[in-house]
Amino acid sequence: MSSNEDKPPSEKPDENSSGATGGQEQDKQEEDGDDNATPVGFLQQLLSQFKLSTGQDEDLPEKEKPEQLLEEVTFEGVANYIKKGRCKNIVVMTGAGISTAAGIPDFRSPGTGLYDNLQKYDLPYPQAVFEINFFRSNPEPFFTLAKELYPGTFKPTISHYFIKFLNDRELLLRNYTQNIDTLEREAGIPEEKLVEAHGSFHMAHCLDCRKEYTHEWVKDEIFADKVPSCPDCKGVVKPDIVFFGESLPDVFHKCLPQDMPKCDLLLVMGTSLKVAAICFLNRQSSRDNSTIVNK
Ligand SMILES: [Zn+2]
Repeated sequence: MSSNEDKPPSEKPDENSSGATGGQEQDKQEEDGDDNATPVGFLQQLLSQFKLSTGQDEDLPEKEKPEQLLEEVTFEGVANYIKKGRCKNIVVMTGAGISTAAGIPDFRSPGTGLYDNLQKYDLPYPQAVFEINFFRSNPEPFFTLAKELYPGTFKPTISHYFIKFLNDRELLLRNYTQNIDTLEREAGIPEEKLVEAHGSFHMAHCLDCRKEYTHEWVKDEIFADKVPSCPDCKGVVKPDIVFFGESLPDVFHKCLPQDMPKCDLLLVMGTSLKVAAICFLNRQSSRDNSTIVNK
């Protein structure tokens, strides 16, 4: 994790490295990057970037101690902070971890992760199923997989409803999610409060003529074991999830610079922050009074 001195991302470093599932490179980093393996260590490291305290900085001289915003570094401490009305513009960043309880396979877990279960598709390498160039030449493995994962089969978790609750209390500025399962929408988080950083199954477009299709139409095709094909031009119709080699949605680049200066509490849920794109969010939130919670 880097510090506030890091220059803000001026280019789009996510464009070729991110995708619906993060990617192997990031997976590797996760396996290797355990220098902040304990939750408290990780939290301390994060908070120190924002000159905040976990309350465990006794060793520091008084003047170097960061301001302690939370009474205690616990969920109760954060809840009390919110209840005191000290934050009104909460940004919530979410990743796969909040959806695993819904039964959606984790893309990363060894043995149960989706990449590990892709052998049957006879891919050159697992990540190919989410690569745009591979998809153009051989879309079938993706749609076979999409049938297994298709939204609608799964129900939102308590984490999704927590975000909805924040919105109902007018505390939610935005929910940035890496997930493509549309469980945020299902939980009732309004579209304008949602940035699906890796896209979603909600809409689809023809790769050739760009005609838009609904997810209902695509779903019918997928569940009939067909590769969805544009009736107009016979091009392949691809759900609007971000593949490796594709740009992140415009809404991500539009909302990010607007939201981060306003954000007064950043909650990170179900992601290690190591996937490209989402990890830049916390770098952009540079206000001294922001609080990051990652669990
Ligand atoms: Zn078309």
